[in-house]
Amino acid sequence: KQQKVQTESIYDTQCPYCSMQCKMQLIEQRVITRKKHKTIGKDNPTSQGRLCVKGMNAHQHALHHDRLKKPLHKVNGVFEPISWEQAYQIIAEQFTKIQQEDGKDALSVYGSASITNEEAYLLGKFARVALETKHIDYNGRLCMASAATAANMSFGVDRGFTNSLQEVPHTRCIILAGTNIAECQPTIMPYFEKAKENGAFIIAIDPRETSTTKLADLHIKNKPGTDVYIANAVMKILIDLDLLDHAFIQERTEDFHVVQDYVNTLQLDKLADSAGVSLDDLYQMALVFGRESSGMVFTARGIEQQINGTDTVRAFLNLLLATGKIGKPYSGYGAITGQGNGQGAREHGQKADQLPGYRLIENEQDRQYIANVWGVTAEQLPRKGVSAYEMFERIIDGEITSMFVMCSNPVVSNPNANLIKKALKQLKFLVVTDLFLSETAKLADLVLPATSYLEDEGTLTNVEGRVLLREASYPIQGEAKHDWQILCEIASILGKKQYFDFENAEAIFEELRIASKGGKADYSGITYQRLRQEKGILWPCPDTRHKGTERLFEESFAHPNGKAKMVAIPCQSKQLKPVPTEQYPLFLTTGRVMSHYLTGEQTRKSPSLAARDFEAFVEIHPDTAAKYSIQPNSLVRITSEQGWIVVRSRYSSTIRQDTVFVPFHWTEDQNVNRLVADQLDPYCKMPGFKMNVVRLSPIDG
Ligand code: SF4
Repeated sequence: KQQKVQTESIYDTQCPYCSMQCKMQLIEQRVITRKKHKTIGKDNPTSQGRLCVKGMNAHQHALHHDRLKKPLHKVNGVFEPISWEQAYQIIAEQFTKIQQEDGKDALSVYGSASITNEEAYLLGKFARVALETKHIDYNGRLCMASAATAANMSFGVDRGFTNSLQEVPHTRCIILAGTNIAECQPTIMPYFEKAKENGAFIIAIDPRETSTTKLADLHIKNKPGTDVYIANAVMKILIDLDLLDHAFIQERTEDFHVVQDYVNTLQLDKLADSAGVSLDDLYQMALVFGRESSGMVFTARGIEQQINGTDTVRAFLNLLLATGKIGKPYSGYGAITGQGNGQGAREHGQKADQLPGYRLIENEQDRQYIANVWGVTAEQLPRKGVSAYEMFERIIDGEITSMFVMCSNPVVSNPNANLIKKALKQLKFLVVTDLFLSETAKLADLVLPATSYLEDEGTLTNVEGRVLLREASYPIQGEAKHDWQILCEIASILGKKQYFDFENAEAIFEELRIASKGGKADYSGITYQRLRQEKGILWPCPDTRHKGTERLFEESFAHPNGKAKMVAIPCQSKQLKPVPTEQYPLFLTTGRVMSHYLTGEQTRKSPSLAARDFEAFVEIHPDTAAKYSIQPNSLVRITSEQGWIVVRSRYSSTIRQDTVFVPFHWTEDQNVNRLVADQLDPYCKMPGFKMNVVRLSPIDG
């Protein structure tokens, strides 16, 4: 017999997970004394009412009984609940003492791409004005830095998508390079399915067959780490067959001749052989992309998270520039961001080298502008710090002795996870804000409970570069506080209240608007009122009458001379790349599964999602498994030079025989990042997560 619903409340919100930032509603029904919850999609310009399984179950982590309700202080290895006043007192004493003993830059800040734009902005200001340290960086350094750097180098600015998603269904050819959107950003798929229905030719580049590659007309299943070979081969064919847009190259780009001279030295059969693909496939890719009237290239972590990730993305951007497929209708580039606020969180100053609005911390004019907005002198602003992973190396070296981590789980997400754990344990004082006692929080001296997506107001910038307003709607759990509120209150107790006197998220956004004005990511024309009415605005938006920018680069690129820069990308990188050896004979690549997100800290709390994928696994070709005596569904030890993990085997006859795949959402002995080397891309300092070499051994019958 059905129980009668006594009350029903509806809360408007936005999904906390991927960069689609789907709008949704939490429906809470009270039945007798119990509450029942359900999340449904809500219409908006990007997600159009769709949700994937993660979004539908997001409330399960936000309402989970393990949510932190009070600040926790570790005494003799045991966490004890304390008041906020006590927590702030401890922070003030420790930060002051550490800076007196070890210097200003002994404090460090580790941010996140899951926080709002307001919090990302405030965190950068907090590090530089309240703590006066140069050491701030964030977890976006691990996943989107190479695409951002490549776009900056080639185009002069980095907005993930150069066109709005509405253009995708009308393009004629799509290259999906290293992306599994069907599992990572599922609600984006209908745009690509519609393009296919409309006759677009889709090319996917991925060592594995996935739900995304199944959509493709051509799947190029290359060896991990050989994407540059493919881009250069396609460029050579485009040049050989004269499938170029000469007028575009002449008027809109520079240094094409350098690319041409370089690829002329390459031999196509050797490129195909090195990438482990057929020459016919490369010809087909070049012929279709070159001949079609419009085309788009999308990249993601598969080609970006490599130690030459910036170069790799630039090699694909060269293809757009050589064929004139950018700055025009239905032609352009998209870096498919992973984290919820992957775009916005990289624009407002929580990166080691940046100030808000994509201003540069080492540019004197930029420093002066931001100093004026913040009411300090340019001389007071610290200089450039080091990147996320390098901060942990500085801890080991003894230069950094304290860290403030906001909404991030670096001990699971960084490469060489054993070193990260060692570094965090070495700190004199570690503070973490989070929803849960994450693996990183467990190592902290002080843990501060933060509000969830249901309780926290602010703007986030989605995969396209569209700014969306997420209203706070649900009652705050326990004594949790907003991250921006925590920052303001710590700054206040450190004697910097005058710089952090904000009543709410909107007040911070008002300052962010001024700070971004005239910068490359200009939000100055965006207001909360407009976001409520217009449901999202694409930046740049330089004044309140500007409708936002649907398509970039229609007339010029963002470099001072208005031209895009092309560059020859060498196939044989001077950097040391992992190559299979007798000891480590297989490529390892990593990625996501649909039911989990990042380190799994939130999604593993959701019973519905945990039930779908409750443990890590290694995807392996049956012939490869037979070679190493690995039975299906059996435990396997995977060993690299950096460490080992134990996961269960999952046979797949569609993965390359020289490659295995492990998803990265699990911890401890199932944390695949323990196997990843700490070599960094030289331009953006992103680690090469997507390629390592390993050996496998069975550990049970
Ligand atoms: Fe949408 Fe991404 Fe959330 Fe799925 S995880 S509901 S695609 S925002």
